[in-house]
Amino acid sequence: NRQWVLRQRPRGLVTDADLELVESPIPDLAEGEALVRTVYLSLDPTNRTWMNDAEGYLPPVGLGDVMRGLTLGVVEDSRSDRFKTGDVVTPLNGGWAEYAVVHETGLRPVHRAPGMPLTANLSVLGMTGLTAWAGVTDVLDPKPGQTMVVSAAAGAVGSIAGQIAKQKGARVIGIAGGEKKCAWLTDELGFDAAIDYKAEDVGAALDRLAPDGVDLNFENVGGDIMIAVWNRMNTFGRIAVCGLISAYNATKAPPSPNFARIITHRLNVRGFLVLDYAPRAREMVQEMGPWLADGRVKWKVHVDEGLEGAVASLNRLFTGDHDGKLLVKVSEE
Ligand code: NDP
Repeated sequence: NRQWVLRQRPRGLVTDADLELVESPIPDLAEGEALVRTVYLSLDPTNRTWMNDAEGYLPPVGLGDVMRGLTLGVVEDSRSDRFKTGDVVTPLNGGWAEYAVVHETGLRPVHRAPGMPLTANLSVLGMTGLTAWAGVTDVLDPKPGQTMVVSAAAGAVGSIAGQIAKQKGARVIGIAGGEKKCAWLTDELGFDAAIDYKAEDVGAALDRLAPDGVDLNFENVGGDIMIAVWNRMNTFGRIAVCGLISAYNATKAPPSPNFARIITHRLNVRGFLVLDYAPRAREMVQEMGPWLADGRVKWKVHVDEGLEGAVASLNRLFTGDHDGKLLVKVSEE
């Protein structure tokens, strides 16, 4: 069983020296356990935060431990009454490994959506979609005519968040890196406008595209991009703080927005974690199912082949060199 083990805490982007691919035997199953063969490994920006020895919403991955990660796999052997060989499951922590031994209490069955590939369960109808849906419908609650700005807009969460807000009648401006990603947002996903933060000044572009200010901000990036949006927030605006990816590799604190605007403009700023929304996943699928079925909401996955390339693949999230939800295909479906 090949597994990626954390050897040292990265500084900046993850390097090959930080994790090691080791070969270890698969332990015998105890009562209630199942052996799960990983098919897909989900790579998420938060994986990088778990490598730091810092306070977070989960404890850091220990040095010498298998890297934590969300996976989708197939049960190959079972001593559980609830899961049998051949079942498709998502372990809560399959980890960066070819196989995982998981107790039945840490396994969730996968309900394959009709007409959808399995990758949907780790992206648009999985954690990614739930994050976008929770942030837009629960935290921001857009009303027709309101202007929403979403950062990392061409990414897995951002692209879905923008499209959900469009379904709710908002005017949506996306911020993404590069002409191609911006064109995808406006030409194919129906965003009202896109800002290429690598080619233009975000503040100047917002002044041009949102002369009446910004009502809603779905924030994925932080740093200078967040400051530019923040300083244009309208009175009684709402900010869903979803992620701050620009800081995940930082070795010193990033610049921060003018927090006095929370007071002067009575902003509603709310951080949220997708974990809290797990009980509402079915509601998300019910609302988004029809949008996906008739193509009103579009989605992409970027699948890299092979567990051995997982470190290089993870860094794609920080360079933006991926299209859609980033997954690693570890074995055949
Ligand atoms: P994405 O598919 O959006 O990949 C990350 C993207 O971020 C990259 O493609 C890149 O796009 C952009 N990016 C990376 N570094 C920077 C930077 N320094 N400045 C500007 N943009 C940058 O990943 P996800 O959709 O999985 O995650 C998006 C955000 O959502 C993350 O912040 C993540 O932590 C957060 N999240 C939060 C959850 C929660 O429960 N609160 C749950 C899941 C995700 P580009 O090419 O445009 O630069």
